[in-house]
Amino acid sequence: MSPLRVAVVGSGPAGTFCAEILSEDTGHEVQVDVFERLPTPFGLVRYGVAPDHQKIKSIVESLTEVYESPSVRFLGNVTVGSDITIDELRAHYDAVVLACGAPLNRQLGVPGEELPGVVAARNFVSWYSGHPDASFDTSVLTADRAVVVGVGNVALDVARMLVRTPDELRRTDVPEHVVDALGGHSIRKVYIVGRRGPAHAKFTNKEFLELAGVEGADVLVSPDDLELSEEDRAHVAVKPATARLLASLGKVAARAPLGRERSVRFLFHRTPVEFAGAGAVGTVRLTHTSRPENVEDLAAGLVLPAVGYRGVAMGGVPFDEASGTIPHRDSRVVDGERPLPGLYAVGWVKRGPSGVIGTNRLCAAETAGALLADASSLIGTGSGREGIDALLRSRGVAVVDWSRWRAIEAAEASLGAAGGRGRVKLHDRTDMLIAAGVAA
Ligand code: NAP
Repeated sequence: MSPLRVAVVGSGPAGTFCAEILSEDTGHEVQVDVFERLPTPFGLVRYGVAPDHQKIKSIVESLTEVYESPSVRFLGNVTVGSDITIDELRAHYDAVVLACGAPLNRQLGVPGEELPGVVAARNFVSWYSGHPDASFDTSVLTADRAVVVGVGNVALDVARMLVRTPDELRRTDVPEHVVDALGGHSIRKVYIVGRRGPAHAKFTNKEFLELAGVEGADVLVSPDDLELSEEDRAHVAVKPATARLLASLGKVAARAPLGRERSVRFLFHRTPVEFAGAGAVGTVRLTHTSRPENVEDLAAGLVLPAVGYRGVAMGGVPFDEASGTIPHRDSRVVDGERPLPGLYAVGWVKRGPSGVIGTNRLCAAETAGALLADASSLIGTGSGREGIDALLRSRGVAVVDWSRWRAIEAAEASLGAAGGRGRVKLHDRTDMLIAAGVAA
């Protein structure tokens, strides 16, 4: 019997977990090719998990084992949609799994959002994480104040990175120019603005405690902001994790400021209604969410909206604009009511941008389960991966395979060693391709 041939689009945690489950002993011989538009694997594990969260990033070790399996190939530096189309993948493989994540930023829709100095948190995260497509104008770091909009874990990540000391930054894998820019900036006050109260904060207690414990800044919470309405109390009563978070917020609100040079202050119940400034942002206008007549203007030269991500439509694949996800039934992609045979979704593009890395393992198990249940009707419908290899060669696509990615890793280790640090990321795509041996 011929093997079940599967293409996975996206090598982030969802795509990699899916490849892992499919390559386990499933009762079928399975070949999995994972396509990735970057020369580097692991998606948001490499470019989203905060650089100072090396323990979370250590999941890379088990994700790496997936690509060491003889039944899984990594095809990096291949953009599905331009180097190769979805229809071409569907013709050559028995099944295609879409694991392309949520690469866009949710917009606030507030006047002035386009001003220089208003930078979606994701762009900032991508820049300090060394994403090859990320650019960030470091001149905004000469401001005295920054405002982070949103109270999710990404908001806490960016606020924490803004107050890390140079020594702390050097213990991470961020590029040296990021250490210089973030270690020497002049931002003294960081505000984190939530439109609802702390009972509805999306960040987790663990991440809050980490921020509250940073060496480089006072973390300030106003006791007034912690008063709960009847509705809040009912909400918290059934959410023990929120109750623990509120207790931590309460302890920080009760502690005396430590008099550090930098501060991170939480402002709850505030909605940003305008970003203003001549040529660049200078002020954030906030209203009290339930009393909009209460207006306050906050001076800030850097504004980081951290209000969530959304997926992006791919040519030839149904897409639900409202949710920013691919419509599916039990992980099988549908066009209206009609399932598209051999097409599956996994991860954020399937269920929206929520959950932690481990959530994607459960999601991948569902998707792989649906695919394997359909295996008997899929096997033999694709013409084989050889045709894809030939197409990529004929189009001059410089594929970064697993051994070439290992060469990029080795170059990053050498770069770090030369600077007296652990591994340090390459930031520039051409440098990566040179290290991979596919560009001169
Ligand atoms: P998130 O958890 O959905 O938080 C988004 C925040 O933006 C919420 O506070 C939300 O408030 C606010 N928001 C949305 N629209 C807004 C608007 N128009 N005006 C003002 N505020 C608005 O998203 P995220 O922080 O991007 O995180 C994405 C996922 O990655 C989450 O599951 C998160 O836990 C995960 N993550 C985990 C870690 C970690 O484990 N260390 C780190 C980073 C990210 P409302 O609630 O009022 O809508």
